[in-house]
Amino acid sequence: MSDKPSNQMPLFISPRQSSLISVMPSGTDWAVGKPCGALGVCVLGSGSGGNATVLRIGKTALLVDAGFGPRTTDKWLREAGLSLSSLEAICLTHLDQDHFRPTWPKTLLKFGIPVYVHNSHYADLMRIPGGAELRDAGLARSFNSSPFGPMPGVTASTVRLAHDRAGTIGYRFDTEVGSIGYATDLGHAPPELIQHLAGVDLLCIESNYDEAMTHASARPDWINRRNMSDAGHLSNEQSFDAVRLIADASPDGLPHDVVLLHRSSQCNHPARVREVFGCDADLAKRVTLTEQRSRTRWLEVYNSSVVDAT
Ligand SMILES: [Zn+2]
Repeated sequence: MSDKPSNQMPLFISPRQSSLISVMPSGTDWAVGKPCGALGVCVLGSGSGGNATVLRIGKTALLVDAGFGPRTTDKWLREAGLSLSSLEAICLTHLDQDHFRPTWPKTLLKFGIPVYVHNSHYADLMRIPGGAELRDAGLARSFNSSPFGPMPGVTASTVRLAHDRAGTIGYRFDTEVGSIGYATDLGHAPPELIQHLAGVDLLCIESNYDEAMTHASARPDWINRRNMSDAGHLSNEQSFDAVRLIADASPDGLPHDVVLLHRSSQCNHPARVREVFGCDADLAKRVTLTEQRSRTRWLEVYNSSVVDAT
């Protein structure tokens, strides 16, 4: 992780986006990513080596997944203008180590940060050293299909998705100023997910692998078969199709930002992602590619239909 946010940019920045940014609430330093009072998203890192995304309102924040250790996460949060003490909650998609490092419980207890997991993942959380202590402290919180409030001003609603044995959770976070969709590690994008994420203002979704690169890779066949299965990951094409379907189901069309997560280092390449998403110029200009080792800039989340009307 460098001291500065990665210089990854949307594939293109349109004049329309530039003018939208200029009418955003003032106070966000886009270059260094200091938060203001509005809603923002910053992906600290994404890939098979770890995943963590910050959603913040003002000085409070929640993490979606905590796939880097607490010390590293704190360092990166500070570089993004926050710290561990800013965290109100951690919401987990699933318990694979690239999404929840088992070194977290002691830190969660120290800072009193609750971790939210789906009912079906609760037993996995209890198996982690320190899981029972989290439970006893009231910090291991499970949810089912009902919406819940992980931090003030945020309502989380979820959908279960196919991924390996235990599955994963897709999130939708609704706030007064905008909504965020988050889906990673899913073998396919079912109609329930498309409906669930329809109308979000900012969409984070994985674009994990390129099919040809996967077939050509030196990785064992069983890993490739697993990744490409309906309970593995989304390819670039599957991700593109899912974004288009979500846009088609949304009253305002495409989200104002599309953040592509969890790109495979061995079986994908930014150029391949650009090629696939570049087929749709309107979508391509909204895309931000995440990296394993550098964070994105702060992406402001706002209700597209309200801003478009100004
Ligand atoms: Zn993963």
